[in-house]
Amino acid sequence: MAVVLDPQLKRALAERVRFYNELGIYDFYRRNPAELNLSEIQPEEREEMTPRANAATRVLQREDSRELAKPELNVIDPAQALRLIREDLGDCTRCVLHKQGRKQIVFGVGNPKADLMFIGEAPGADEDLQGEPFVGRAGQLLNNMIKAMGLQREDVYIANIIKCRPPGNRTPEREECETCSPFLMRQIAAIQPKAIVALGAVAAKTLLAINAPMSEFRGRWFDFRGTKLAVTYHPAFLLRDPRQKKETWKDLQMVMKELGMPIPAKGVE
Ligand code: URA
Repeated sequence: MAVVLDPQLKRALAERVRFYNELGIYDFYRRNPAELNLSEIQPEEREEMTPRANAATRVLQREDSRELAKPELNVIDPAQALRLIREDLGDCTRCVLHKQGRKQIVFGVGNPKADLMFIGEAPGADEDLQGEPFVGRAGQLLNNMIKAMGLQREDVYIANIIKCRPPGNRTPEREECETCSPFLMRQIAAIQPKAIVALGAVAAKTLLAINAPMSEFRGRWFDFRGTKLAVTYHPAFLLRDPRQKKETWKDLQMVMKELGMPIPAKGVE
């Protein structure tokens, strides 16, 4: 099975590989994280490393211990795995948003065994009130998109990059995305969708760690940790510029084709 790495861990690993290469070590062998015993790593071993390698080691140790601490690992039932992730998230205070007026955490909603997952940016006022993603005007349009595909909202899974409403619906800060998105990664790993649709540039940039305009994201498939990922316009953008709905329909047709779904004649309303 493909190993899921988040961008921070990927960077730390690349850093560590460079460090070993500098020592003349080029061959690496896979080790199951469950077999790692962090207490075996002697502090003096770390002291001998360069500051850069030391920093990379610290990130890896944090990631390794998070890996060990994931309660949903080895849980086969996706619904149960999602419950455990939600429990682990708790009444989250990991970033500043918990003290900036959020009413509740908006975890995600839908079929835990969905083939298709939609990922937006952040909850807005309606989502913050109701505790469910995409329930406001943008949510109605997302529902139309789902319906146009011949699906129901209950068939797919819907989540956001971050789970708390930023004040005034501002764009999430990088720090907030980095703190919150590991929980989304775990939700994706639990659901194992066949395809992900990132809604808008913030979701696309965060998931793919690529800074590009929408024109470069749309109309093609990306590999997201072994899962196909497509990007389309955010429904809130479509509310402002409804002419782009036909472009969105093209993106959704690409998704339906990939999933082997029949393609209805009618597009997004
Ligand atoms: N916009 C988003 O990105 N997510 C929501 O849940 C609602 C609006």
